[in-house]
Amino acid sequence: MTNRKYHLFAANISLSLLLLIASGLVHASGEIIRIGVLSHRGDAVTHQMWGSTANYLSYALHPKKFEVIPLDFDEVEPAVKDAAIDFLLVNSGIYVNLEVRYRISRIVTLDNGTQERPLNVFGGVIFTRADRSDINRLADIRGHSLIAVDETSLGGFQMAWGEMKKAQLSPYEDFTELAFGGTHDKVVMAVKQGEFDIGTVRTNILERMADKGDIELKDFKIINPYQNGFTYLHSTHLYPEWPFSKLQHTSNQLARQVAVALLNMQASRPAGNFHYAGWTVPLDYQDVHELFRNLQLPPYDPQHRFTLLDAIERYWRWLLMALTFLMMMAVMSTWVSRLNRQLKKSNLYLEHQHDLVLDSVCDGIYGVDLEGNCTFVNRSMKSITGWQAEDLIGYNQHQILHHTHVDGTPHKPDECPVYLTFQSNEPRFVEDDLFWKKDGSGFPVEYSSTPMQDHKGETVGSVVVFRDISERKKAEEEARRHQTELAHMARLNTMGEMASGIAHELNQPLTAIATNAYASIQMLESGNISNEKLADIMEKIGHQAERSGEIIRQLRQFVRKEQPQRCPLDLNELIEEVLMLLRPEVRKAGVTVQRNLDRSIKKVMAQRIQIEQVILNLVKNAIEAMVNSDVETRRLAITTGMGGSHSVIVSVEDSGPGISSEMRDGLFDPFITSKKKGLGLGLSISLGIIEAHQGNLYLDSSSGEGAIFRFALPLDHEEATHE
Ligand code: ADP
Repeated sequence: MTNRKYHLFAANISLSLLLLIASGLVHASGEIIRIGVLSHRGDAVTHQMWGSTANYLSYALHPKKFEVIPLDFDEVEPAVKDAAIDFLLVNSGIYVNLEVRYRISRIVTLDNGTQERPLNVFGGVIFTRADRSDINRLADIRGHSLIAVDETSLGGFQMAWGEMKKAQLSPYEDFTELAFGGTHDKVVMAVKQGEFDIGTVRTNILERMADKGDIELKDFKIINPYQNGFTYLHSTHLYPEWPFSKLQHTSNQLARQVAVALLNMQASRPAGNFHYAGWTVPLDYQDVHELFRNLQLPPYDPQHRFTLLDAIERYWRWLLMALTFLMMMAVMSTWVSRLNRQLKKSNLYLEHQHDLVLDSVCDGIYGVDLEGNCTFVNRSMKSITGWQAEDLIGYNQHQILHHTHVDGTPHKPDECPVYLTFQSNEPRFVEDDLFWKKDGSGFPVEYSSTPMQDHKGETVGSVVVFRDISERKKAEEEARRHQTELAHMARLNTMGEMASGIAHELNQPLTAIATNAYASIQMLESGNISNEKLADIMEKIGHQAERSGEIIRQLRQFVRKEQPQRCPLDLNELIEEVLMLLRPEVRKAGVTVQRNLDRSIKKVMAQRIQIEQVILNLVKNAIEAMVNSDVETRRLAITTGMGGSHSVIVSVEDSGPGISSEMRDGLFDPFITSKKKGLGLGLSISLGIIEAHQGNLYLDSSSGEGAIFRFALPLDHEEATHE
């Protein structure tokens, strides 16, 4: 046994080496061909039984050398799998299994008879001792002990099992004991000696043992005997005898040579005695396949058809690759899902930050999509307007917030600056507009609307940031009112100062009227006056009266409170009016007035009295500066002209001492004065007025002597457009 294992091992390890070397070397000395033979009756018997066949083949196929390798039941498959043998002689059951699994193929079938009576089929025998009167039929064997040759022995177990199955019996469940003797002889002896109740072996075993004198046939009883003319006692269907097969690696040429030699064996039997008749052409083993299918034996057992182990053995490289790939995928997906989690967390954090930022801004913010629907709102938006997110998101913002102008006229959607923003893709800023609250009231707003773009740079809507400017407007209104009050006060003050001059001024025409009137009366009384002369005097009186009336009208207009609205004004006219008011003062101070008035200047949009006040302040300051200094010539020049195409500039220039450097810094601040009775409000009020008109007032410091004050006022919009 050890010897054989070593042999198999050696053959296994060195097969490929041998095939390479031996094919050349061995050929000359005689190639060794191994015939694996199922050793079901022990190695010695196997050698004895089949040695002569090997010798015959060696003789027939000289110089090839054939040798018998006895194989136990469990040694057969490894020998085939490892190609440790070239031919195989096993029972038909093992053959069909290996045929399916290792593609071995039969080349001849054994004729197990004698020269006189050929026999190439065999069956199984189920028997008991002849003295067992309780066991007669197949049904009686239930509940007894059974011994068979081997689980894989076709004639020595599987055929009997097939027969039992037909009778609804299972060798594994319906016997008190099931044992396997290993050889046919042992099975027969075990039953003979009463160790087991029932035995099963292949056909011709009992007869042979009886021939040898080991047993006597009369001591045994055959169960389920078949009466079909077959030579030997049998209890089962008959199946083809052992096939002689070639392995897959064995060359067809060699197989053909062996088959021919075996088929010719009877004719020439010089190699010795054979225990069988010879070989026939290979039979059909379909019945054996059917039996195995019925018993669900390999290769037809569901579990062993293709086991996981088989799969692993065959595809281990692929499996390893797949496993590695799967592991990599698992690692990757874990990594990706972790990244995903982190990303989600960061996203949440960012969203939270985003909301936090939006909600901490006190301006209202909301988003608008290209359909004009609201996409998000911040907290201030809700608190300012009273609209909640659910009132706004998904709804048309213009219809909700922006539908009507302050004067009650509808605000057309196609004029809505928010829509125009994403249509033109340009940001817009609206200084003064009106939004509507949920309670139906409107409030003034200033807002910016900026196009919103996605990651591809495509405009997807706009973001509107708005501020409720009610408070600011109120403050502005208050400042304006205050300004008006101040200007009024200043005018009254100026009025007081001017009163004596005006009285003097009025005195002149009134005196002239009175003188002329009295002169006319005297002339009328003396009758020394013609009608023409009288009309002439009356006309003079009328002129003087008109002049007085004009002075008074101017005064009244000057003193009266502010006109509410602005209107287009010709600054040249205004200058003339102021100069007329100041004529007494100008004359008294001995100032020469030079008018450089550009008649082509456009009208400005302004409040008449306020601008008069500014001109008056500047002219009065100039006169006072010249009077209070010892300059030789007192000259005042008033100039008008266009400042570019959008404004008119007025300059008031004097030949006085100019502004000292100490005065310059806070010149336009209130209560800064160099005069004993001065209030220091004139320039500050004037600056306030000009700035309220979007203009500017400044000291032109470029002049060498005297002072030049200039102010610029924007043109009336229509004039500017026209221009
Ligand atoms: P007030 O005339 O009551 O002093 P203003 O604000 O009109 O107040 O003037 C502030 C000061 O600026 C004057 O006191 C004067 O010192 C100076 N100032 C204004 N205009 C002139 C000018 N044309 N020439 C020199 N100094 C001037």
